[in-house]
Amino acid sequence: MIEFFLRGHDLPLVLLAAAVCLIAAYACIGLMQHARRASGRMRHVWNAVSALSVGLGIWATHFIAILAFRPGFALSYDLGLTALSLLIAILVCGTGIGLAVHSRGRIDRILGGATVGVGISAMHYTGIAALMLEGDIIWQSGAATLSVLAGMALAALSFAATLRQGWRWNLAAAGLLTAAICALHFTAMAAADFSNCLPATEGAELDSGLMSVIVALISILVLAAAIGSLVLDEADNRRTAREAARRAADARRVAEANDRLNLALAHMGQGLALFDRDGALQLHNQRLADLLGFSMDANLIGTSLAEILRRSHLAFGLAADEAGYRAAELAGQYRQLIDEGGGEIVQPISDDRAFRVRHSPAGDGAWITTVEDISESRRNAAAITHLAHHDSLTGLPNRIRFGQVLAAGLQALGSPEEKLAIVALDLDRFKDINDGHGHAAGDHVLRVLAERFAAFLKDGEVLARLGGDEFAAIKPFTNMTALRDFLGRIEQAINSRIAYGEGMLVVGGSIGVAIAPDDGVDASKLLNNADLALYRAKAEFDQRICYYEREMDEASRQRRAIAKDLWVAVETNGFHLAYQVQKSVTTGETTGYEVLLRWNRPGHGPVPPGEFIPIAEECGAINAIGAWVLANACREAATWPEPHKIAVNVSGLQLAQLELVDLVKMVLDQTGLAPSRLELEVTETAIISDRKRALLVLNQIKALGVSVAIDDFGTGYSSLDILRSFPFDKIKLDRSFMTEVERDEQAKAIVRAILALGKSLSVPVLAEGVETTEQLNVLRAEGCTEAQGFLLGRPGTINWQQLDGDGRRFA
Ligand code: C2E
Ligand code: CA
Ligand code: CA
Repeated sequence: MIEFFLRGHDLPLVLLAAAVCLIAAYACIGLMQHARRASGRMRHVWNAVSALSVGLGIWATHFIAILAFRPGFALSYDLGLTALSLLIAILVCGTGIGLAVHSRGRIDRILGGATVGVGISAMHYTGIAALMLEGDIIWQSGAATLSVLAGMALAALSFAATLRQGWRWNLAAAGLLTAAICALHFTAMAAADFSNCLPATEGAELDSGLMSVIVALISILVLAAAIGSLVLDEADNRRTAREAARRAADARRVAEANDRLNLALAHMGQGLALFDRDGALQLHNQRLADLLGFSMDANLIGTSLAEILRRSHLAFGLAADEAGYRAAELAGQYRQLIDEGGGEIVQPISDDRAFRVRHSPAGDGAWITTVEDISESRRNAAAITHLAHHDSLTGLPNRIRFGQVLAAGLQALGSPEEKLAIVALDLDRFKDINDGHGHAAGDHVLRVLAERFAAFLKDGEVLARLGGDEFAAIKPFTNMTALRDFLGRIEQAINSRIAYGEGMLVVGGSIGVAIAPDDGVDASKLLNNADLALYRAKAEFDQRICYYEREMDEASRQRRAIAKDLWVAVETNGFHLAYQVQKSVTTGETTGYEVLLRWNRPGHGPVPPGEFIPIAEECGAINAIGAWVLANACREAATWPEPHKIAVNVSGLQLAQLELVDLVKMVLDQTGLAPSRLELEVTETAIISDRKRALLVLNQIKALGVSVAIDDFGTGYSSLDILRSFPFDKIKLDRSFMTEVERDEQAKAIVRAILALGKSLSVPVLAEGVETTEQLNVLRAEGCTEAQGFLLGRPGTINWQQLDGDGRRFA
């Protein structure tokens, strides 16, 4: 068989042809694969190079094989046809390779291979036609057809092999292509009978020698192409390897970055979610799931915003329908925010929890939502606010907070039955506890009371410490029973005993109540009204709780007006003095005159001193007034024809000041009145408020030669005690005893006891308010020294003439 094909061939040249063919085939396959990997223009370039190498290779193979052919005479070649055969090989094979390079599937590849087979055939038969021969070649048509079909089939098979990657498959493809070329060539040669042929002599020709050189050169070109293909292959491989390594590195980096991102997301303090433009969740971290109350394995990806919110609300314990309703509402609110370019919302979750939810657009309609639990920072802020709004000693709300709550409570008043009580509270014996037991005891009392208050407070009730022992409370109510219950609880708290050290302390207190809107709707006015009620409660002996009444307001307004007018009277000399005679009970002789202040208030007429003196004490005018009384009484008395004593009343406030001593000294100096003619009347209460100081002042005054009487004796609690602490020159028995002394045996007994006491201490007793002779008789019978009263003389200006007569009649 082989012999049949190689009949008339030179074997070494045949082998050379085969070798060139294999090299060309390998170059073709390699370059073709390279072209496939290239893109754009380079793909066409490599396609052409591949076509060139295989075209040249086929052509060279053909002509080496022809050189190996020994028909029995020397061959020469037609130049044009030889060139044409080369062109055909390059163009047709190039077309086939192009098909394979641009192929999408197997069919294209196989079609490309078959086209290359056509190219080989066309090249071969043109090459045969290029042989310059005389006479006809006799063709065996069957074998010729077979040669073409074999070439096409094997070439198609070769290209099919290029569908697989790797050098082995490339080599197989190259082998198959070589087989295609060789099979075609030798079958075609075997199909031709050259026996009738003779070499031609005319025309442009190439002789065998020149042809050998050309073929050799082309073979070298093919070899170069093959080597180039190998190099390219290697470069390709290396590049592929590099690319693979780079891709692996990239993949690693991406994976690392991803890990880091995941780690960051996982450890982020904030919950993070990425939603796509349709509002479906694309990505989220665990923190988000935790914050929204989802379990570890909850699959949220793809879930809509509204659905996530609904499930979160369910997780927070909302009922199904409420969760749905609230989630839809919230989702709408969020969507609006997102559509407006993002923003932030603080979302309260419960009383002590809140989230800060921020939506930021992420392009293309997608957005990122972050959720931050700000409960902690809110708690810190709340703690700071708490400090600013609460009293540090007791933890109760302070004045600032009280004002806020009161304002809010007043604002909230709606229907007519809704009312707000403003309660002012003042402790009774707090100052005594502080003075007697020290400030630690005072603090202890305040803390214990605060604890008690805090324990009984109900919803809506607020009790604040405004300062010192001053408290205030707010109680919204609709019926008085609720308010009375609240006040009862406060009373109980302040009246219960408080253990301190070894003993027990009881503070007690007074309560004033103003009610909004009845007593006003303005916060400061209401507080003021509650205070007015409180003052009344403190003043009333048997009433610990007082409600504000409009009259209090009127009274306080009037007091303010009186105070104003008092100051005017001080400056305009608006006062004058009345004198009430004091006489001896036994002889009826005038022993002296009490000086009584009179004020004719412009536009109002005379105001009793019992009314305006306390106001003068309150507004501070008493010092100026007292000085005026003393100076004018002394000046007048100094001009009297008789050297009678004068008794001047001194207020407790004056008595608390050492300046009183200087004042008395100065007045006596200026008026020239003998100190022995002056007597100061002080009350028991005036001494008690600051006993030490009062006694010091009295002693200094007494040292001046001025006498001191104790006024209103018997009304206070510690009269006897006071009497022992200072050498008074006179006891003035309060006039309240006189009204009772005639019919009440007990009153008579007290008077008798006081008179006896005076006698034992050698202090004369003067009875005040003697209005009847019966009273005077009793006093005389009981051994009273002096008397004063309407019976003996009303306060007024002294008519020296008439007085003499009275005095005599009395005696
Ligand atoms: P007081 O010191 O007890 O003065 C006696 C008061 O009894 C006077 O009232 C006098 O008018 C009144 N009185 C005298 N005899 C009788 C009587 O037989 N029956 C009745 N029912 N009352 C009689 P007045 O003048 O209204 O003074 C009231 C109080 O005002 C005084 O009480 C005194 O505490 C205070 N006061 C008066 N003048 C001064 C003053 O210049 N300085 C100070 N600090 N207080 C004064
Ligand atoms: Ca008096
Ligand atoms: Ca008196």
